[in-house]
Amino acid sequence: EMPKFDYKPPKYTGPSFEETMQTRKEYLTPALLTYYKNPIMIVDGKQQYLFDHEGNRYLDMFAGIVTVSVGHCHPTVTKAAIDQMNRLQHTTTIYLHPVIGEFGKKLAETFPKESNLKVVYFVNSGSEANDLAVMMARAYTGNFDFISLRNGYHGASGNSASLTALHTWKYPVPSDFGIKHTLNPDPYRGPFKSSDPEAGKKYAWHLKNLIEHSSPGAVAGFIAESIQGIGGTVELADGFLKEAYDIIRAHGGLCIADEVQTGFGRTGTNFWGFQNYGVTPDIVTMAKGIGNGAPLAAVVTTPEIAKTLSKRIHFNTYGGNPVSCAMGSAVLDVIRDEKIQQNAHDVGSIIKDGLNDLKKKYKVIGDVRGHGLMLGVELVRDHETLEPANTETAHVFEKAKEMGVLVGKGGLYGNCLRIKPPMCVTKEDAKFFLDVMDRSLASL
Ligand code: PMP
Repeated sequence: EMPKFDYKPPKYTGPSFEETMQTRKEYLTPALLTYYKNPIMIVDGKQQYLFDHEGNRYLDMFAGIVTVSVGHCHPTVTKAAIDQMNRLQHTTTIYLHPVIGEFGKKLAETFPKESNLKVVYFVNSGSEANDLAVMMARAYTGNFDFISLRNGYHGASGNSASLTALHTWKYPVPSDFGIKHTLNPDPYRGPFKSSDPEAGKKYAWHLKNLIEHSSPGAVAGFIAESIQGIGGTVELADGFLKEAYDIIRAHGGLCIADEVQTGFGRTGTNFWGFQNYGVTPDIVTMAKGIGNGAPLAAVVTTPEIAKTLSKRIHFNTYGGNPVSCAMGSAVLDVIRDEKIQQNAHDVGSIIKDGLNDLKKKYKVIGDVRGHGLMLGVELVRDHETLEPANTETAHVFEKAKEMGVLVGKGGLYGNCLRIKPPMCVTKEDAKFFLDVMDRSLASL
């Protein structure tokens, strides 16, 4: 049974489900209409729960695509937004604004001191942050070629869409021809498995080979997610990232960590995902969890690299919007004051252990992976060929919803369940979630 929760949403009186379906069909993009066979209309959210128009409650294990970091409508974040909205809703960074400065400082302080990552540039989305990171690396190094991973997702705008290499996300439009994709260091699905202690080195060899055979021998940079999100919660092969950073730097490039999904304590062990690999990037991009849903993103780099942006004018209208920054600042306070990161670690461990127990019970589970509350389950029909069990995944996904649990889907074949709830999720929720997973798998 779903854990007790002391909140009942007010009776919903807005446009009906049918009307909303119709307006969506007629006026909005069809892209995501089929996420569930029978779509749900969400009208209310509190902490780790969502409510539909009929007042049904769901345990939200996907957090609005890994975005609602500290819980839906967190009162501290809401108050910060309202207070700021009543004072000043918009000014740009062409004027001094105390909230922007204060938040920038607080954000910079989340990085290891010795990293020297302390200059913040605010933008509005992860795509925009990655576009800017590519531009900065090119401007700083004077090089053009750029490398990302084949299973990576980095956004949907100019350069960021080119960094993304998943074919399911690619449109037949020109890509940035300086951007190249190296073999994905995937210890489950890639050619070098986790059982091979040299796997990380072998994937790094491919990266070096790509530089030597498809660039002038010098690169502007390299970008990777610490754990690949949309690609199916893929953890990079042991030792790969460290080697990759060394190779990129030896070829004149900067190393960029895309922390859009993995930042803000989500991996439980460290505040930033890259820290789990013992590397220090030159540029870090972030979005999603930074504002608990506010349109807010940032690029953080060293003072030296940041100087490149003063060679020309670089500016965006909404970056550093005071309401977004006030919300971001409140998010950092909540993560600290409510020990959110510790909770991500503790509850995440319970969920991961439980999923590994289910793996012993259900042959269809091929792999359980991730850290903290950045977890994934890959379903396969055969443990040798790794044939994706995509219809089975879709079935589990629908069944879980019927039982009140919303999870994400991902991976190249759509055969990965993505478990990334608001980080205030409790041990009781974990128990309920695992029970629902068990019953959904049993119904296959
Ligand atoms: N990087 C990663 C790792 C992401 O998951 C996403 C969004 N899913 C982006 C970048 C792009 O962010 P946005 O959708 O805010 O542009």
